[in-house]
Amino acid sequence: MGIELKKRYQLFIGGEWVDSASGETFQTTNPATGEVLANVASAGKEDVHRAVDAAWKAYQGGWRRTDAGFRGKSLYRIAQAIRDNSEELALLDSLDNGKTLNEARVDMFMAAECFEYYAGAANKLEGKVIPVFGDRLNYVLREPLGVVGQIIPWNFPLMMAAWKLAPALAAGNCIVLKPAEETPLSALRLGELISDIVPAGVVNILTGYGPEAGAPLVEHPAVKKIAFTGSTEVGRQIMAHAAAHVADVTLELGGKSPQIVFPDADLDAALEGVLLGIFYNEGQQCSAGSRLFLHESIYDNFLKKLIERSKAINVGPPQEPTSQIGSLVSKEQQKRVLNYVQLGVKEGAEVACGGKAPAAPELKRGCYVEPTVLVNVANKMKVAQEEIFGPVLCVMKWSDEKKMIEEANDVQFGLCAGVWTKDINKAHKTANKIEAGNVWINQYDVFAYGAPFGGYKQSGIGRELAFDTLLHYTQQKNVNVDLSGKPSRWF
Ligand code: NAP
Ligand code: MG
Repeated sequence: MGIELKKRYQLFIGGEWVDSASGETFQTTNPATGEVLANVASAGKEDVHRAVDAAWKAYQGGWRRTDAGFRGKSLYRIAQAIRDNSEELALLDSLDNGKTLNEARVDMFMAAECFEYYAGAANKLEGKVIPVFGDRLNYVLREPLGVVGQIIPWNFPLMMAAWKLAPALAAGNCIVLKPAEETPLSALRLGELISDIVPAGVVNILTGYGPEAGAPLVEHPAVKKIAFTGSTEVGRQIMAHAAAHVADVTLELGGKSPQIVFPDADLDAALEGVLLGIFYNEGQQCSAGSRLFLHESIYDNFLKKLIERSKAINVGPPQEPTSQIGSLVSKEQQKRVLNYVQLGVKEGAEVACGGKAPAAPELKRGCYVEPTVLVNVANKMKVAQEEIFGPVLCVMKWSDEKKMIEEANDVQFGLCAGVWTKDINKAHKTANKIEAGNVWINQYDVFAYGAPFGGYKQSGIGRELAFDTLLHYTQQKNVNVDLSGKPSRWF
């Protein structure tokens, strides 16, 4: 399927498509070819102010008073619009990000499912009555926050937009969304699709750079909450700046998640899970199972198969149906990942396969990296401690279970973990000891709407995808009513 891109994309503010106040634009490129896809408006402080004003107006003007059931129906319509346009949206993300079209199709399915989950949840959000002393009625309302700012990364462009927008809208908030500078196109197309579904100003979309468009959004005093997905480094800055006007934050940050394989595991299943965990989405996933702990008794055999399979992965043009891994998002990201491989070698690790850009001439212009397995890794090495965010797996051998668990936990992150064993007690015991927000047992990278996703430690604050995520987009109002009809005497 072809797609006709506009030459120039604008900001979506108050239901209108407008240029940035400065008139500035930036280019978004296809990282698989280096071609410029389009010029996109680059938002700055003035645009942030306009967008927040538009969101506040839409909030006060009606969205806060809409029936939850109506908001739910609107979200179902958004889900349907994504499904009806999923091939186009998937192609946009594949072109803009470099991920395979097959992967982008999964993102569209996940995005639509997310809107459907929160569509159904919108009118299940209830307050409560508290049995307080005396002749009183005491009740708690869950009210929306007002205007929320949402800042998202480039790795799952439309899906991340869905994860943010759906619960915030369901709870009755109005939004200013900033997509990543590398991948603005699908969010803008979503803006077009939803412009007939939600009133003007309920969703505003500001494309632009983090420091110019993101930072003023975080600093704006009328923004009551910032929901952020991205790196731990930027997450820390956002938290600090939101503190200046006491705005709430939820942060979905980085990871360095362990995959633990016990000797009694179904090793074929574990191999599939390890490959998916590190190479899906070109390794650019916060949940990546990037540290593999293999028991010494299965180490040689497992590693041999892992290397064979990694070498056989088809790295190729993202839109080719046979490509299993596409391009990384940018030259910068490719360089960063390859530098980490070099660093690992300096630290004493060994490249068992991959470790470079593929040699095929037709891939030279892109930002590809071969599926890479590093062995002889020690957990204290930087390659085992820092998030590489690319297709690079660090393999470690273990024999002492207690020590292995200590090492699995010995990182600043705590997002996910994979545990592979047929022993149900061992599985639960290990899950219990792992410091991570998500533990997958005999599977990996399985996301379910309703099940909370998010991090321990420096992997973040708050949870997404769950019913409780709605609560993060509300504030409680306690109302205490005197029913006695008698004045309270204090003097
Ligand atoms: P990033 O550099 O932190 O950027 C994320 C977003 O923040 C982008 O929109 C970025 O704008 C913006 N930003 C940058 N500096 C900012 C500032 N000073 N103020 C406000 N906004 C600012 O992360 P990334 O490289 O795009 O994404 C990769 C990271 O996301 C990884 O660490 C990954 O683990 C994490 N991630 C986490 C989850 C999760 O659920 N835990 C999910 C996906 C990804 P620009 O586009 O201009 O840079
Ligand atoms: Mg791009």
